[in-house]
Amino acid sequence: MRIKAGQRKTKQRQVILEELQRLRTHPTASELYEVVRQRLPRLSLGTVYRNLELLVESGFARKIESAGGQARFDGDLSQHYHVRCEECGEVADVFGLPSDIVRGEFEELNGYRVSGYKLEFVGLCPHCQNGKSNQYEETGDAPSSPDEH
Ligand SMILES: [Zn+2]
Ligand SMILES: [Zn+2]
Repeated sequence: MRIKAGQRKTKQRQVILEELQRLRTHPTASELYEVVRQRLPRLSLGTVYRNLELLVESGFARKIESAGGQARFDGDLSQHYHVRCEECGEVADVFGLPSDIVRGEFEELNGYRVSGYKLEFVGLCPHCQNGKSNQYEETGDAPSSPDEH
């Protein structure tokens, strides 16, 4: 069956969205590209960028823009917040917090007409905490069961 150009575009976007929804890591466009490329080898990074923007615009994906880094993308549209590791940049989901964590209706702040807010928690992920506290980890001969409590 021959695939027309228009259909191929739709297919690309679908694969990109599928992989985004499957990944729980909130990938950057280039991280997602590395994954999608395994299914669509001829895809370019630019195509992934364009499709991600389209998916965000049409409400199929969320864009997480953080002050210090590249934009990350999230295929999970349910209500949740994010926490970012300041060490490795990993972004994890935070569920169970109220959706209106900032109280009140701000129509105007400091002369700005406010349309919404972005909230991002920052800290150290479990992995980076271990790296900091367990300096003996890389000695080579690990004790038989270091996780025994
Ligand atoms: Zn980390
Ligand atoms: Zn998320």
